[in-house]
Amino acid sequence: MSKTTLKDYYLSLGIDEKVYDFCSDIEAGLEDRFKDIDNIAEYNQIKVLKAMQEARLAEEHLNGTTGYGYNDSGREAVEEIYAKVFGTEEALVRQQITCGTHALYIALSANLRPGDEILSPVGKVYDTLEGVIGVRESKGSLAEFGITFRQVDLLPDGSFDYDSIKANINEKTKLIEIQRSKGYDVRPTLSVEQIGEVISFIKGIKPDVICMVDNCYGEFVETIEPSEVGADMVVGSLIKNPGGGLAPIGGYICGTKECIDNCAYRLTSPGLGKEVGASLGVTRNIAQGLFMAPTVTASALKGAIFAANIYEKLGFKTVPNATEDRYDIIQAVEFGKPELIQAFCEGIQAAAPVDSYVTPVPWDMPGYDSQVIMAAGAFVSGASIELSADAPMKEPYAVYFQGGLTYEHAKFGIMMSLQKIVEKGLIVW
Ligand SMILES: *Cc1c(COP(=O)(O)O)cnc(C)c1O
Repeated sequence: MSKTTLKDYYLSLGIDEKVYDFCSDIEAGLEDRFKDIDNIAEYNQIKVLKAMQEARLAEEHLNGTTGYGYNDSGREAVEEIYAKVFGTEEALVRQQITCGTHALYIALSANLRPGDEILSPVGKVYDTLEGVIGVRESKGSLAEFGITFRQVDLLPDGSFDYDSIKANINEKTKLIEIQRSKGYDVRPTLSVEQIGEVISFIKGIKPDVICMVDNCYGEFVETIEPSEVGADMVVGSLIKNPGGGLAPIGGYICGTKECIDNCAYRLTSPGLGKEVGASLGVTRNIAQGLFMAPTVTASALKGAIFAANIYEKLGFKTVPNATEDRYDIIQAVEFGKPELIQAFCEGIQAAAPVDSYVTPVPWDMPGYDSQVIMAAGAFVSGASIELSADAPMKEPYAVYFQGGLTYEHAKFGIMMSLQKIVEKGLIVW
């Protein structure tokens, strides 16, 4: 090591010795947890590598096309790789898919027709999907096209309400929407095993129903994906886990040939489908991002576990808690006071590589019934696989945070969040 020790560096960045020592002690106790996460990352790294080799990914694939994008071999290679990684017949992986919500909208609208019904057996859908489906009135929603929606809430202990699911499947039920991650809700995140159980129950009642999983934030957290336990489609965003922090935009849908063909005709146009869509030189980032995704996801998970252990030790409620198994990368901490979530977010922002000098403040946001404070300093705007935090300014004053392209950065962000809280005298040691 050089003359400057690691501790000196932390102190020079504004971390007090007491904060540093407290965090180091917590970290020392996490070795076994981190080892388990490394093992999952290793498995997924080899899975991705194998898919790339089998698809014979080549240098020429990384160049990209313009215009119509006919015969874009790189785009085809990436889609083949995604299909192999997720264990599906086909995949649609496109920079023309603008975000996760768009990918989910394509998957739904492509596979549903007027008179069909969607069933969510896991309760409320993600906020933005309420607009897509028309639970919240919205121009162009599926409801406007005569598609209906039902939801069955999870039981209070987080398990499936099988009786009610059965009672809510009818002749119109065409598609099951299963959200893997809790997102910003209070229910537990589902494991892939649990998703498999509910899919086989539902297919036992209605075999031809399409089971779609909103896979956002869950990719590579386990060694299997929902598409390996019966899901007909898995859908997600490339500026979350599978983009590995390098994809600058995009979404993916992996699934059966029939479902994905429908999605391609919806994304581009009937008759054209997958044949068009220039990759504009983004293929390299999408492919390299997927290559990095297993270890990037592992880093984010370690950061989440580190944070849960720090803040639980300080007496705050954390979801998931310090010792629970993880099925997505999101960590919630209930601070109970607005000043605390503000200080937390200031710390995350101060630790960012981009916009570190900015102070986040609560703001009115469209679609929210309270002000929201957000901290993010990302290389890709809005990328939530990068270290980021947000909190609605209302009871129970919980902050949700996720990401960290490296564990080292996530760790620094959490240390900085605690530093800001300590500086403002908001906790007594
Ligand atoms: C992020 C996310 C989405 C889609 O959000 P976008 O911001 O449109 O990418 C959908 N569902 C869940 C569970 C998510 O976490």
